[in-house]
Amino acid sequence: MLGAIVINEDRCKGCSECVVACPVGAIELTGLKINASGYSYAQPSAKADCCTGCTACAVVCPDGCITVYRKKVTVDESEDEGKEAKA
Ligand code: SF4
Ligand code: SF4
Repeated sequence: MLGAIVINEDRCKGCSECVVACPVGAIELTGLKINASGYSYAQPSAKADCCTGCTACAVVCPDGCITVYRKKVTVDESEDEGKEAKA
């Protein structure tokens, strides 16, 4: 997992823009489950682990309901140098 999202379910209006925008299908609408405003709202899907942290969902959301977190990836340079030395 390279990214993860948090959705403000109470502010969501169920427009599904984020569902359409996500390239890996990591978001779905709840269907019959509704929030306090009466909307079916967005939630992480069964593919949520595929999130890349691309932020497309957060960008398209008209109500700013989605926060994207990205996993920090670092390259261990000393390990790379060791591999080069052996080769
Ligand atoms: S950050 Fe990108 S991959 Fe992750 S849920 Fe949002 S649109 Fe999908
Ligand atoms: S784009 Fe925003 S308002 Fe629309 S379904 Fe997704 S989280 Fe809800």
